[in-house]
Amino acid sequence: MIDFAGLQQQYNEIAEEIEKAIKRILRGGWYILGEELMRFEEEFSHYIGTGYGIGVNSGSDALLLAVKALGIGTGDEVLTVSHTFISTVDSIVRNSAQPVLVDIDPDTFCIDPAQIEEKITDRTKAIIPVHLYGHSADMKLIMNIANKYGLFVIEDACQAHGARYRGQRVGRTGDIGCFSFYPAKNLGAYGDGGIVVTDNVELAEKLKRLRNYGQARKHEHAFVGFNSRLDEIQAAVLRVKLRYLDQWNQKRRKIAAQYTELLSESDIITPTEKEYAEHVYHLYVIRCEQRNDLQQHLSQHGINTQVHYPVPVHKQKAYQDLGFDVQLPITERICNEILSLPMHPWLSDVDVETVIREVKLAT
Ligand SMILES: *Cc1c(COP(=O)(O)O)cnc(C)c1O
Repeated sequence: MIDFAGLQQQYNEIAEEIEKAIKRILRGGWYILGEELMRFEEEFSHYIGTGYGIGVNSGSDALLLAVKALGIGTGDEVLTVSHTFISTVDSIVRNSAQPVLVDIDPDTFCIDPAQIEEKITDRTKAIIPVHLYGHSADMKLIMNIANKYGLFVIEDACQAHGARYRGQRVGRTGDIGCFSFYPAKNLGAYGDGGIVVTDNVELAEKLKRLRNYGQARKHEHAFVGFNSRLDEIQAAVLRVKLRYLDQWNQKRRKIAAQYTELLSESDIITPTEKEYAEHVYHLYVIRCEQRNDLQQHLSQHGINTQVHYPVPVHKQKAYQDLGFDVQLPITERICNEILSLPMHPWLSDVDVETVIREVKLAT
């Protein structure tokens, strides 16, 4: 049996430190908005390279609050992709704004910068590029367009903790970066969590209030907020795991290189790493025309795989009333071809060889 995300193996490696950290919080008697969160926000934003970090409940909330903090709402349009996790687009719709969907670059699976400009109208307020699977979107081209039209940029970095764009960590180039700490992410909590990072002090202050009932001081609410905080126990867990992130990402990169090498003489299309990117392989996604047969074969041989994502956002029932009459040929084509192979730092050489042997037998 080859596990998809290796979370039990991860826990076994750090169990002692994690249990010690959790006990410290339990005994301390302070569980929400305390010292641990403050420290984690400092450490994570320092790691990314931004001045501020605001811990929230989830990656979904990070995006939701980011869109709201920028004042985006009814009548506004936000450009993003349909080939992503649903939350990216939800964050726009939940703020009563209109998502405008752009097709992706088939090499990187990220927004195709060449198709952005034609979708800009005088209602467009922001672009949300997604650094999908751990590979950076082409931020320079995106920032050039954003600057030309005066648009905000929110980076959905929920799959790209530690990934780089031209040497800089993703999440720091746009106005706001959003991260998820869902357990299976490259940096994951033992529950839900997320963070918003920014260099803008006013946005940081706004986000701090938004996550805490709109409150500046106790019993003082100037606007309607949320209850969306990263709790002390999860912050303590994340402080331990942050110290391992680079090392774990390096292992992912090594395993990805092994997969790619072993697949080099097959018909399988392996992931690309552009010259501007340092990929952190949250997912290792191949393309293959007989995807469903391949997935079934692997499953029969004890190899867990997944599809990220089988149905693009604009084809989801939840959005059938939104009037997406867009043509997204790349998005619609690749969702039938993509397959995410097991990817985590605890895959052994034998695991990697077994996966590839079975992939080759099936194709
Ligand atoms: C995981 C993820 C989210 C949502 O994060 P949650 O913490 O699960 O709410 C948003 N966008 C992308 C691209 C993701 O992968």
